[in-house]
Amino acid sequence: MSSSNTSCLASLDNFEEPTLTNESQPIDSTELRLDAAMQSPNNSQKEIMWTAFVFIIGAHLIALAGFFTFSWKALAVCIALHWVTGGLGITLGFHRLLTHRSFQTPKWVEYLLSIIGSLACQGGPLAWVATHRLHHAKSDKPGDPHTPLDGVFWAHMGWCLYKNKDLDSLEDYNRFAPDLAKDPVHVFLNNYFMIWTVLLAAGLYAWGGMPFVIWGIFIRLVLVYHVTWFVNSATHVWGYQTYKTGDDSTNLWWVALLSFGEGWHNNHHAFQTSARHGLKWWELDTTYMMIQFLKFCGLAKDIKLPTAHMLQTKLA
Ligand SMILES: [Zn+2]
Ligand SMILES: [Zn+2]
Repeated sequence: MSSSNTSCLASLDNFEEPTLTNESQPIDSTELRLDAAMQSPNNSQKEIMWTAFVFIIGAHLIALAGFFTFSWKALAVCIALHWVTGGLGITLGFHRLLTHRSFQTPKWVEYLLSIIGSLACQGGPLAWVATHRLHHAKSDKPGDPHTPLDGVFWAHMGWCLYKNKDLDSLEDYNRFAPDLAKDPVHVFLNNYFMIWTVLLAAGLYAWGGMPFVIWGIFIRLVLVYHVTWFVNSATHVWGYQTYKTGDDSTNLWWVALLSFGEGWHNNHHAFQTSARHGLKWWELDTTYMMIQFLKFCGLAKDIKLPTAHMLQTKLA
């Protein structure tokens, strides 16, 4: 839900389409030329997006039922689905594969990751990718959908609750993610991204009754939401900067642990197409390990990494 209402962009009238040619070509977000006159959300009229507002706040309230429905099995389902939907769906699928094309997979793997990512209810693949590419193009500058410079709460979850009149249609998403927009399967998955959550909830109910639904859907959703949002908020506020990026992105160990490696966010802003975010030996990046596992299985190739020279020249 959250990315489908990328709030707070103002005028995109002069927006120049990103220079992307085809979806198998590596994308360097630094090359996205987003020269529109975009304004900070503080300068624009904010309007609550009620669908997202009710869903996100409602998920938090329903998650409180976890106090009355706890079982070790339900907890195990929650943790497993946190990894599947947050680790594989959002981090590996939506972020490193679809947004940055840091490696390539067969199409069926790409579509499967799109479906799994949709289970995080953060919008469909087009909405999520468009929002994130805009974040990289305007990091901590006017037009960034979720910079902490507009407030830490705004960067964490506030931005998800408000409508962005300039970035809430398929046409708008197409301007940021034309590579996905020309793929009818991705467009379908984007338009009907909630179907999979309804099917999963039905399956969980049949398997373990209401406790599995509470823990496997609602508590898991809240967990994945806040972990994803910490990457937008905490790793633009606290932590250390290894590389010069011209923005406030940081590396923060506890966000990295929670988010399967995404907390090495300053490294990521420095080398956006790198499949590996943890660049020091102790910067644990389980998603990169997963990409290597996919390669071992013959399901990932063309894995992009920064060269030693690139690492050296960008040192802060
Ligand atoms: Zn960032
Ligand atoms: Zn990114």
